[in-house]
Amino acid sequence: MKSEPKKVVKNTGLSFSFPMNVLKPLMDYLKGEEKRLVKAKSSLKKEDPFKGKNREEDNSIDADVAEQVDHDRVFASRVELIKSLINIRKTLTRIKIGSYGICEKCGVMIDTDRLAIKPTAEYCFACENEVEARKKR
Ligand SMILES: [Zn+2]
Repeated sequence: MKSEPKKVVKNTGLSFSFPMNVLKPLMDYLKGEEKRLVKAKSSLKKEDPFKGKNREEDNSIDADVAEQVDHDRVFASRVELIKSLINIRKTLTRIKIGSYGICEKCGVMIDTDRLAIKPTAEYCFACENEVEARKKR
């Protein structure tokens, strides 16, 4: 008797969807996070010395360097914020269309432990590793 190859479960639509009692609190959480990030993003804008209205008249090199460093720091946090916002919105969309928790790459169910830690995970652990490894190259 030959052994059956392990079946790869493909995304077949609704068969995988999480029950609403799991999704509802998750959606509430994500919406809360979305609000928080939008707020943080707009307050970061105010913090950016390049955009501040009361930029000091002090044009010494030291002050300019300090402003540049501040600007870079603010810019980096804004990039992170925008990335998180995109992830949250994508996740909310996937909940709505019923593909939440399914790996975008290979279509298998993402481990629920992994989703508990990172609810916005798009890929299963194996695919995430692959994507990360590709980025580093
Ligand atoms: Zn995968």
